[in-house]
Amino acid sequence: MSKHKKQEAIPKPSLLPSARKLLGTSLLFWFAERKRDLPWRKTKDPYSIWVSEIMLQQTQVATVIPYFERFLKSFPTLDILAAADEQEVLMHWQGLGYYRRARMMHQAAKIILSNHDGIFPREPEALAQLPGLGRYTRNAVLSQAFDYRLPILEANTKRVLARLFGLMQDIDSSSGNKFLWEAAEEILPESDIGAFNQAMMELGSLVCTVSSPKCGSCPLSTICLARQSDLVGNIPVKKKKVVVTQVAELATVLVNGKKILLGKRPAGQRWAGLWEVPHDTPTYDFSELKALRSISKKYVSLMPRKFLEIGRVVHPVTRFKITVRVFLGKVSGRAKSGFYEELAWVAPEEMGGFPKSSPQSKIIAMALKALAGSKT
Ligand code: SF4
Repeated sequence: MSKHKKQEAIPKPSLLPSARKLLGTSLLFWFAERKRDLPWRKTKDPYSIWVSEIMLQQTQVATVIPYFERFLKSFPTLDILAAADEQEVLMHWQGLGYYRRARMMHQAAKIILSNHDGIFPREPEALAQLPGLGRYTRNAVLSQAFDYRLPILEANTKRVLARLFGLMQDIDSSSGNKFLWEAAEEILPESDIGAFNQAMMELGSLVCTVSSPKCGSCPLSTICLARQSDLVGNIPVKKKKVVVTQVAELATVLVNGKKILLGKRPAGQRWAGLWEVPHDTPTYDFSELKALRSISKKYVSLMPRKFLEIGRVVHPVTRFKITVRVFLGKVSGRAKSGFYEELAWVAPEEMGGFPKSSPQSKIIAMALKALAGSKT
């Protein structure tokens, strides 16, 4: 007998036609009454919907709205986005995080322009060939723009479906995920697919929330298995929480006169194309000064004689919590780097022209403040 425990098979999700009809009618009625007025809900343009879907990945609706509006003002069509410089695209993404999304969307726009005459493809198979267009994004755009009968599954709908069908398996396991995709397909109505898919997400965001779901005012309460079985608090089932690891870093802000040295991160690296000051985890074989000098030497071949600590920045990255201690060091001489794609000495008034990650924006703002307050 195999020593591995065989995974319990999950029966296929199914609904009686009457329950499916009730679900579609109640949900669409609720959505028409309660939906939030969001800019991407006012359009059927696949390009605009695509931009909104990419921005909404891992990011809250309220945060996305101003970014979405600014982005479409600067890049109103797919052709304009495809022709834009990557640095310009990253500038519009600055502060939104997960910059890979922006780079992949930009690459995909270029491919659509060259391979599809700039017309957003309507076939899921063609979209699957493009970077950053996974099953969820493809189906979300095609169902909202063209009302294609395609299911969607993301964090909110996963939770709603797991509760609706009383799924007692881990929602992130492959069998749980398969079940939920089948469930998302099973509940689709015959028409109004775009609105229906959005309604499911809206329900997850406003009513069937992670904690304290408002079952009393839920349009699906009469057919919800978790509600009927008093299991709402137990579903969705998730594997144990990821343990957060604390990481300490040192950042060296190298200053010459009023200018700060920035490096552009190379392609293929996290935060590729964004600008930053050298930073790294310290090597504890050295004193702090030696650790700081070794970081600035490693990245830009400069070694200040001394450093002044000006503050710290804390930022979470997936399962890490990174605390960066920020130091200023005066330098002269020529910087060169085997790591950064480019180096630039940047005056305070030019800083806005260099796209940066959020933690780096905070570090540089802190440095600019310290420099403005210093006598030199
Ligand atoms: S009844 Fe409660 S648990 Fe079920 S879908 Fe509605 S809000 Fe979620």
